Amino acid sequence: MAVTLVQERLGASSMAEQVLRTIGPVVLLGPPGAGKGTQSKRITEHYHIPQVSTGDLLREHVRQQTPLGIEVQAIIARGELVPDHLVCDIVAWRLRQPDADRGFILDGFPRTQKQAAWLDSFLKFEFFETGKWASWLPIVIRIQVDYNKLLLRITGRRTCPTCGAIYNVHSNPPLVDEICDKDGTKLVIRDDDRDEVIRERLDTYERQTKPVAEYYDKLGRLVTINGDQSVDDVSAAILKEIDGRACGVASGTEAKGN
Ligand code: AMP
Ligand code: ZN
Repeated sequence: MAVTLVQERLGASSMAEQVLRTIGPVVLLGPPGAGKGTQSKRITEHYHIPQVSTGDLLREHVRQQTPLGIEVQAIIARGELVPDHLVCDIVAWRLRQPDADRGFILDGFPRTQKQAAWLDSFLKFEFFETGKWASWLPIVIRIQVDYNKLLLRITGRRTCPTCGAIYNVHSNPPLVDEICDKDGTKLVIRDDDRDEVIRERLDTYERQTKPVAEYYDKLGRLVTINGDQSVDDVSAAILKEIDGRACGVASGTEAKGN
């Protein structure tokens, strides 16, 4: 399995030790199509910390037609950003779940400077000042990929509505065209991966999320990883950064396994 391969390459400690470690907050930045989703899943499997994807959480609200889902569905369909206060509320709710105690990967959040500033104070207050963690500073990893390569990746993306597996017709096709290898479900193109929406999403990223990377860069917290390498190599580079920067527990507090 890929994660095992990565562990071998890194000579990382045993899985049992990894499970017990407190990693803290990891923020994955990168434009749509940079591989944030794929890499998040790998980090999740490696450290046993949850992936918190605001895109997934929002889509779930839309699917269930909650009041929030009804409010945001048109915004998401247009490829625009959902208002900060709504997204921050969802993130606060999610990070307070017990499975986020040793850390979490934020995928798709923060996307604006306001969200980044909100996250800083939330982490400090909820995890550091409560004595849970030795540090609250997020590890911020930016996956960088050339614009034209991104377009190709996004237009080729197909997902399985049953198990969530992600394929790409150019670089990672299923064994049978348009069919999930794992469960035989017909693959779909996500609504917001459609051509007309993609440029808007990339432009939105440029306009609003770049300042987030700059915000973290100024604070000396930004690590940029070249996303134009094999998925395994990107994973290895990311895990190495996280291993070197994990926040640990506050002294006197035991790490909790799960
Ligand atoms: P994603 O799957 O991360 O690309 O997110 C899909 C859509 O959900 C985005 O195009 C936005 O409309 C909305 N969204 C996700 N995360 C955020 C966020 N942090 N702030 C505002 N809107 C978001
Ligand atoms: Zn599937």
